[in-house]
Order: sequence, then C-alpha cells, then structure tokens
Amino acid sequence: MNIILFGPPGAGKGTQAHFLVKKFNYFQLSTGDLLRNEIENKTIIGNQISELIGRGEMVTDDIVDNLILNVVKDEKYKNKIIFDGYPRNIYQAKNLNKILDENQQEINLIVFLNLKRDDVIKRIENRVTCTKCNKTFNKVMDNEEISKSSCCSKNLIKRTDDKSETIIKRYDTYMHITKPMLDYYSSNSNFKEVDGSLKISQISSKIEDFIRS
Ligand SMILES: [Zn+2]
Repeated sequence: MNIILFGPPGAGKGTQAHFLVKKFNYFQLSTGDLLRNEIENKTIIGNQISELIGRGEMVTDDIVDNLILNVVKDEKYKNKIIFDGYPRNIYQAKNLNKILDENQQEINLIVFLNLKRDDVIKRIENRVTCTKCNKTFNKVMDNEEISKSSCCSKNLIKRTDDKSETIIKRYDTYMHITKPMLDYYSSNSNFKEVDGSLKISQISSKIEDFIRS
C-alpha cells in the first residue's frame, strides 16, 4: 500500500509516519531527506543541488521528480511508501500519479491530518513547560502524563513567547498553499480526513483501521 500523509504543521504528521514505519515496515519518503542524502553522498544530483542552494536558488521540480522516481521504481519499496511532505502542489500530485502509474503502482490511501485553526490556538494556549526538565505538555490532553511525573507536575509554567505567532503564521501559510491540493484529493475515494486534535494513539488506530480495511 502506498500512502500520502499530509496536514498542517502541528497535526502530528511526523509522529504518525514513524508509527506506520514501525508497525507496517513502510518506507517514509521525505523529499528533505532525499535531498540531504544526495548531497551527503556527493552524487551527480547531489552536486547539482549543492550548487543551486549555494546560489540561493530553489531545487527544481525536475530534480525532485527524479529522486521520487528512483524510490518508486526501487523494488525494495514497492507498495510500501509513505509520501511525507510530497506532493506539495497539484503539479507534483499529477506527476506522482503518472510516475506510480508507469511503475504499476497507485496511491491506496490519502490521509489528511487536519487541525483546525481554533485547535492550533487552543493548543498554544494550553502549552505548559516544566521549568526543571524543559518538557512540554498540553495541560488538557496530557493530564495523565503530567500527574505521573513528580518532576513536571510541580514545576509547570505557561510560557509566553513569539513562537505562538510563528506557529499560527506557518499554519495559515500551509493551509493557503495546500488548499488546491486538498480540493484535488478530497474527491478521491481513498481520501480520509482525520482530526489531528485527537490523542496520538487515537489517530494511529484510525489510520491503522484505514489500512486494514
Ligand atoms: Zn519535569
């Protein structure tokens, strides 16, 4: 099964991708990791990427498409890919369909891990940090975890910081850019939306249900 996992920052996409990798032995395809790999291994593409970045330019769609193709046609990863952070736009979404089709594969599940703007704000408001060990909790959702820790339960404070504004800005940008892709995928019969404000384990079991059904 090939899966697309997408959603705004803070919805827990990375956590769920890791869960799927562990549980089902999937391969997490992140374009960031692919690019870094090429650079580190000083491949031909890697050197091209370094040059572009050095000139302050964006990595071209061509390069990304090539890297995606290399993974898709690799037998090792056949029908085991979690697309994480790719596609980012309609062009890439259509291209991905084409690449998969040419390699006798398809997208079997599209999960949109949604988080409403109000929930993002609520989360920020409920964020507390332990002054002793620096762990961060959600004072509503992590009640149990907090009460279990003798360190944190006594030392929690609510921090006011600029981070809150940055988080909301990143959220708005993401939702704006992603809207066309969301429209593109949401009519697909494999499309599922999961409420990212649920507990991590609840989200995992929902995704697991989709995979098993
Ligand atoms: Zn602590």
